[in-house]
Amino acid sequence: MEWLQVRDVLAGDGAGEKACIRGWIHRKRQSKKIAFLVVRDGTDVIQTTVRAGTEPFPEAEKVTIESSVEVEGTVHADARAPGGKELRVEKLRIIGLSDTFPITRDQSTELLMDLRHLWVRSVPMNRVMRLRAAVFQASREYFDTMGFVEVHPPMFITAACEGGSTLFKVPYFGKKAYLTQSSQFYLEALITGLERVYCVAPSFRAEKSRTTRHLTEFWHIEAEEAFCGLEGTMRTQEDLVAHICQTIATRFPEELQAMGRDPEVIAGVKAPFERISYDKSIDILQGRGVDIPWGADLGTKEERELTMEFEQPFFVYHYPAEAKAFYHRLDPEDSSKVLCADMLAPEGHGEIVGGGERTWTIEEIMSRINEEELDTTDYEWYLDLRRYGGVPHAGFGLGAARLIKWICGMEHIRDALPFPRTMNRIYP
Ligand code: ATP
Ligand code: MN
Repeated sequence: MEWLQVRDVLAGDGAGEKACIRGWIHRKRQSKKIAFLVVRDGTDVIQTTVRAGTEPFPEAEKVTIESSVEVEGTVHADARAPGGKELRVEKLRIIGLSDTFPITRDQSTELLMDLRHLWVRSVPMNRVMRLRAAVFQASREYFDTMGFVEVHPPMFITAACEGGSTLFKVPYFGKKAYLTQSSQFYLEALITGLERVYCVAPSFRAEKSRTTRHLTEFWHIEAEEAFCGLEGTMRTQEDLVAHICQTIATRFPEELQAMGRDPEVIAGVKAPFERISYDKSIDILQGRGVDIPWGADLGTKEERELTMEFEQPFFVYHYPAEAKAFYHRLDPEDSSKVLCADMLAPEGHGEIVGGGERTWTIEEIMSRINEEELDTTDYEWYLDLRRYGGVPHAGFGLGAARLIKWICGMEHIRDALPFPRTMNRIYP
């Protein structure tokens, strides 16, 4: 007999046809006359019923929540059952009898984090994982259609991209090495052969801040384009994010609703996104009573306040040079600013993408390095990219979990991935 998946059983006629499924006992309710076993597999849940006096009844009495089982029976339409079908059980085999499952209703967040390896099988977590997979799929779809080549940069590196304070050091055969904070520098090397590249890879940052949007390990969707400037990369970013939103709104309307998110809001995300200058954002913030001096980067608190005014993602561009890393290109018309932009998600979520034009001549980058008094010994190779046929180029990094947090309207970034890593969480 062929195994069916629950989704296919639910899609059937429910006119008494035979079905064999396997999965886990999701819920169990029992009286003297009948046992209701809700079985979950990788596609959905279905109610199964076992009548007293039938051969499988003793097994049904014995089976515990989260036991793995094989079930054979006939499918009948039943309006009272979730999904409108029930499976009347003729054979029930327990594959793995579960110990008393430690997760019941209304558990604390802390306990669910300690038991994350068990919690990831829950319906809400499965929902997030499926949606998350679609975010990555839609990203690749967009990049592939636009002629970007997917590349695979290293995770062990020797040079900081985003400043030394959040670098994770790793022992490396007696040499010093770090886990990468971003793949940007390697993408910059790869555009010389491929022009447009992207990667989907983890980035690591020793974030000591306990915010609702910082992980120590996050999946980073990064892209780099040769012969491209700030406006060009902003277009790529907004088209990418709009494509992801359209995909999610089309494929996951019920899931979004179940998370308390109106799918129409996500369906409404269309390019172009509004662009506001850093200067204007400071005016807005000061107008809302936030005490921020010109020149400071926007932090979690400022971004929360600023994004309250918006319903769609938008860009803040032309940040002060002092607020951003050395590789950003100075605005030739105003050298106090850099040609960069962050994409901010509305409703308090804040930055989801950071990017812009890169400094690409050797003279420009050396003067930025000298200004910032950086030691170049560990990334002389990065300067070579300017010495051997440098071209104007631009790119960005999108934090997948940040994007998902906003799309799903989550309060905390840890809900956007199965095993979040933060300062005080590395187990399980
Ligand atoms: P923030 O100011 O919010 O810390 P950042 O300026 O450090 O962000 P970038 O260095 O520009 O961020 O990184 C590019 C993108 O990577 C960010 O827009 C964000 O989506 C994501 N990102 C950065 N740090 C983290 C983190 N600790 N956890 C999750 N995602 C992150
Ligand atoms: Mn940061």
